[in-house]
Amino acid sequence: MKRSFQAMLLAIVALACSSHRVTASVPVGNPNFDAAATSVRRLLGELVTADTTNPPGNESRAVAVGVKRLEAAGIPFEVTEFAPGRENLVARLTGDGSADPILLLAHTDVVGAAGQDWSVPAHEITERGGFLYGRGVNDDLGMAAIELEVMLLLKKAGVPLARDVILAWTGDEESGGAGVQWLLANEPDSIQAELVLNEGGGIVLGRDGAPARIQLQTAEKTYQDFTLTAYGPTGHSSVPLGDNAIYRMSRALSRVGRHRFPARLLPVTRANLAARASQEEGGLADAMRALAAAKGSLPSAALEVADRDPILSATLRTTCVATLIQGGTRVNALPAEVVATINCRILPDESIAQVEAELIRIINDPEIEIASDGEFGFAAPSPLSGPGPAAIAAAAAEMWPGLPIVPFMSRGATDSRFLRAEGIPAYGIDPLALTEDDGRRAHGIDERIPADGLRPAVEFLYRVVIELAAKR
Ligand SMILES: [Zn+2]
Repeated sequence: MKRSFQAMLLAIVALACSSHRVTASVPVGNPNFDAAATSVRRLLGELVTADTTNPPGNESRAVAVGVKRLEAAGIPFEVTEFAPGRENLVARLTGDGSADPILLLAHTDVVGAAGQDWSVPAHEITERGGFLYGRGVNDDLGMAAIELEVMLLLKKAGVPLARDVILAWTGDEESGGAGVQWLLANEPDSIQAELVLNEGGGIVLGRDGAPARIQLQTAEKTYQDFTLTAYGPTGHSSVPLGDNAIYRMSRALSRVGRHRFPARLLPVTRANLAARASQEEGGLADAMRALAAAKGSLPSAALEVADRDPILSATLRTTCVATLIQGGTRVNALPAEVVATINCRILPDESIAQVEAELIRIINDPEIEIASDGEFGFAAPSPLSGPGPAAIAAAAAEMWPGLPIVPFMSRGATDSRFLRAEGIPAYGIDPLALTEDDGRRAHGIDERIPADGLRPAVEFLYRVVIELAAKR
C-alpha cells in the first residue's frame, strides 16, 4: 500500500515536472546537489593536480581520474588514445532510443602556467577569499567535472532517458583539437548526437555576484593566419636601391592596418545586440538598438558609436591584424626577404578564400606573396532556436526567473567548430557562473572560480539534461 502510494506520488511529481517544467521546484530524480557539489570539488581537485598542460597534454592522467568515477558508478565508457599519453574518454547512459543522443563535451588539456607569476601553485586547487584557484578550474576542467557529476547523478537516480546522454572528454583543444578530430575521423558514432553542450558561453555574474545574463554561444569566428612575403635585391647598405623588401612590406601592412572590413550583422549578432541593448545605458544602448533594428545597410551614426568599443567593433566584422614580422639579416645589408603574419578572425558565414581575395585587393602589390597557413577548421553558426536553446531557457527559468539569454558569437574558437562542421548544432554554455573579469583569467594568471558556484552549476546542467533527455 505504502509502495503504491509512493508510486502514485512519483507519477504526480513526474507529471507536474513534464507539464509545468518552468515552475518545477523539485528536479526529476531529486538529487542531493550539496553532496554533488562536494563530489565535484574533489574531482576538480584531482583533475587540476593531474597537470594536463598542453603541450605535451598528458590527458591520459585526467582520463584515469574520470575512469575511476565511471567504473565505480557502473557507467560504460571507452578510452581512446589519439597520441602517446594522450586520450579521450567517452561515456554513455543509454536511453530508450525514442530521440537522438545529446553530447556533453569538455576538454581536459589546459594552457601552461610556466612563466606566469601566479600567487598560488597553479597545478593544485587553493581556496582563498571564496574562490578556488588553479589552472583549468574554469577552462575547462570545471565543466568536465560538472558534466561527469551530472552523469553520475542521472545514473544514481535511475532517471529513465528518452535519449542516450554521452559524455566526451577530449584532449588537445588548446592547440588544434586533435582529440575531437580523432573521434570524428575514427569513431564518429561514439559522439554522434542531435546537439552538443560545450564551453564557449555561459552564465555571466554581475557586479553584485548574482547571475546577470546567460551568454549562449551559437557561433564562432573562423581563425586564419596568412603569411605575407616580400623580396628585394640584396647588396651593401651603403648603396640603397629603389626596391627594398622592408619598405615594400611596410606599405602592404599599413594598407591592411588602414582597412576596415565592412560591418554586417548575422542572426546571432543581431539577437545579441537586441538583448544587450536592454542591459546597457545611454548612447551605447541606443546604438545597439538602432543596429539591431536596421534593415539593409547599418546606420552610420550608430555604427560610429559601436566602433568606439573595440570588442563590439570586432563582433560586427571580419578583422585582420599584423601580429609577427621578421626580415633582414644584418644591420649593413639590404634585406632579401621580409615575412609577416596577418591574423584574421572571420565572420562564420564568410570563406577563407573570400578574405584572402580581399587581402590581395587591399595590398594591391603582385610582388607580395600571400599564403593562407594551414586550416584551423570552421563552421556555420548553430540555430538560435530548437531543443538546445529551449532546454537551456527552461532550466534557467527554473533557477533564475527572468534572467535574459543573450545569443553570442565567440571571437575565439573551441572544439565546437568541428561538430558544427559535421552538422551537429553546438551550444557554448558552461554551467559555472563567472564575472567577466574572472572569465578573462582563463589562460592567464590566477585562474579562479567562485567556490559556492559549483552547486548551482551542477543543478543547472542537471536540469538542462533532464529537459533534453528525461523520458516524458
Ligand atoms: Zn577551453
